[in-house]
Amino acid sequence: MRALRFDGRQPVYVDDAPAPTPSEGEAVIRPLRMGICATDLEICRGYMGFTGTLGHEFVGVVEQVIGEDRRKLTGRRVVGGINAVCRQCDMCRAGLSTHCRHRTVLGIQGRDGCFAERFTLPAANLVPVPDSIDDDTASFAEPLAAALQAKAQLHIEGEPYITVLGDGRLGLLTAQVMAQLNASVRVVGKHAAKLEHCEKWGIKHRLLDDVGLRQDQDVVVDCTGSASGMTTALGMIRPRGKIVLKTTISPHDPASVNHIENLARIVVNEIEVIGSRCGSIPEAVDSLARAEVDVLSLISRRMRLSEGVQALKVAAEPHVMKVLLDL
Ligand SMILES: [Zn+2]
Ligand SMILES: [Zn+2]
Repeated sequence: MRALRFDGRQPVYVDDAPAPTPSEGEAVIRPLRMGICATDLEICRGYMGFTGTLGHEFVGVVEQVIGEDRRKLTGRRVVGGINAVCRQCDMCRAGLSTHCRHRTVLGIQGRDGCFAERFTLPAANLVPVPDSIDDDTASFAEPLAAALQAKAQLHIEGEPYITVLGDGRLGLLTAQVMAQLNASVRVVGKHAAKLEHCEKWGIKHRLLDDVGLRQDQDVVVDCTGSASGMTTALGMIRPRGKIVLKTTISPHDPASVNHIENLARIVVNEIEVIGSRCGSIPEAVDSLARAEVDVLSLISRRMRLSEGVQALKVAAEPHVMKVLLDL
């Protein structure tokens, strides 16, 4: 089977990956469209210590289901939650299954990802995609869910000033989601061409070099994907403000040493820091069906799975937004 894998040193494209063997309750999925995200790039720099098949953003067709839900899902076009959970630990029983103590995560932790001819996920993770949503749009369900999670974790009072830091794929998704709140939202980034997208959505935007670090924002959402994002966020946030962190970086990143200094500023200014990861896939599908966010503008390139090693390089280029893969 063809697959794009990380071998612990570098990404490799192989044609002899073993076909997946689904367990009870799992589905075998053939991806129709796959998306490359910053997490995939960080994994290739050592994040999570993962080795195996990369990828966690997909829309695909269910080819087989072992056990329950067989008739309901086989042949359906689906997207899915990436955490495969035990349903028995204290976190699962408390309704916090994305924090399952025994979870595996598609293409990130203990489970081969979706950049392959076939992959598996629990059938319970899968959400059918309505016909009104095309494959390109549907492939954004997982990152959109992550953006929606940032909104779900904030309790907005008054009409706050919110800065979304970072003009990449996740930043521009998150900005569109935040713009649904009763808030004054701006995106701050380093790339004029990327920020330009905000014009058609009516969202304010500024280049990082043009904004002062005035500690006047009520909320800063760090979508930079960079170790320097937190330092910039602390320069923008007002005392007692909230920083939502979407950035995950490899511990091998040299800039991560700034974190000790940043911790002191969090204490002194009594900043609330909110870590934010995966969100609700059904809510993301609903949002896509209602066309609440523009995802198609974010597509920069389409490449084949066989070009996957090159596609990861392209996705890391500063001017590139979403790179989609086909089988
Ligand atoms: Zn992702
Ligand atoms: Zn669990």
